[in-house]
Amino acid sequence: VQCAESLRVQAYFDNEVDAVTAAEIERHAEHCAACGTLLRDLELTRATIRRDLPHHRAPPALRARIARELDAEMAVVARGSRTWRRPVERAWSFWASRPQPLHSG
Ligand SMILES: [Zn+2]
Repeated sequence: VQCAESLRVQAYFDNEVDAVTAAEIERHAEHCAACGTLLRDLELTRATIRRDLPHHRAPPALRARIARELDAEMAVVARGSRTWRRPVERAWSFWASRPQPLHSG
């Protein structure tokens, strides 16, 4: 049998209630078997999900493909930044080498 407070218990579990409501629910769950069980179930589910998450790894072939594509992406970015940086450096040295810039201050 589901308690009328079960929705609030779930909200409490998800940290979606204020401190006053949280205290109310904690008190309620202490003497309500349904809500006490619900909280334990939610805790268990969360613990199970967290424990099992690291085991859901991508298969080696997919990981290798992603790594290759990331490498390719990084190569493009590296090439792009080299061709981009050169004119900027030239422009900087151009202005820096001028004893009296046109716009000072
Ligand atoms: Zn209850």
